[in-house]
Amino acid sequence: MYDVLVVGSANADLTVRVNRRPGAGETALGTDLVESAGGKGANQAAAAARLGVRTALLAKVGDDAYGELLLAAQRAAGTGLRHVLVEKGARTGTAMIVVDPDGDNSIVVSPGANALLSPAEVAAAREVIAASAVVSLQLEIPYGTVREVVRIARETGTRVVLNPSPTPEELDPEFFAAADPLIVNKHEARWLTQLHCGGPDEWARALRKAGARSVVITLGERGALVLEEGAAEPVRLPGIEVEAVDTTGAGDAFTGALAGRLAAGTSLVEAARFAVRVGAAAVTKPGAQPSYPTLSELPG
Ligand code: ATP
Repeated sequence: MYDVLVVGSANADLTVRVNRRPGAGETALGTDLVESAGGKGANQAAAAARLGVRTALLAKVGDDAYGELLLAAQRAAGTGLRHVLVEKGARTGTAMIVVDPDGDNSIVVSPGANALLSPAEVAAAREVIAASAVVSLQLEIPYGTVREVVRIARETGTRVVLNPSPTPEELDPEFFAAADPLIVNKHEARWLTQLHCGGPDEWARALRKAGARSVVITLGERGALVLEEGAAEPVRLPGIEVEAVDTTGAGDAFTGALAGRLAAGTSLVEAARFAVRVGAAAVTKPGAQPSYPTLSELPG
């Protein structure tokens, strides 16, 4: 039914730029508030849909103005919204983001409706999971809900793309076993492997040893590294030189694009090579979803 089903979070990103991020007890004056669509799940879905992939989102928002904003953004991207649940009386998830002139940010997330997406609600979507080529997951919704999707996907043979972010204290073995691939950035790779002095090659090998069938490590401007199932050596994919304006949501753009290519039957290395171009495009414009490219806007 769908090439990519994304199960995950949807947040309204509320962003203010400041000259200096305030410390404890300080107040800072910032620019006008910018409200835009974000949340890892919604970002991944928008990225895939904008590239022309048949995509659906299974997520939960509140019945408020931010929920409307998020749904409108998904509609504009072309995401299927039949499986987005609207919880009466709940607040849509929000991320309060403060960005300084160096592009460094501080973020506070209020999960709101994301925290209410239950295992029973995803279990009710079993047929949709079964009929999708790839299910893409992150960890901004309750852990038990993600675990339920992993369980169903393993039963139905649906390929799981997992970005374990925000990174938990420990990742269950069943999450590792389902991930094909596990996608992490360098901070997440370091944290999950506890290899603080190693490099991407060592991290990838360690993550496979921990049970992941295949591993992708995103390396920002330096591209990505891929360790395919059964491969002895990782493959390095160089980054693409672009004028980076704002990296928010680049990782999610990468993951949505990669999931779309895998659903089309491409090898993991080729899917990641394509995703590197999509990630690069996403850093050339401000914001998360507003920066995501269509096929004709890709560099390289
Ligand atoms: P974020 O948290 O900012 O969304 P991330 O830390 O999850 O991102 P990164 O490894 O920073 O993920 O970036 C993901 C992909 O985006 C990279 O693999 C690369 O393709 C692209 N990318 C990120 N930063 C740059 C950059 N400065 N120049 C070119 N491409 C970039």
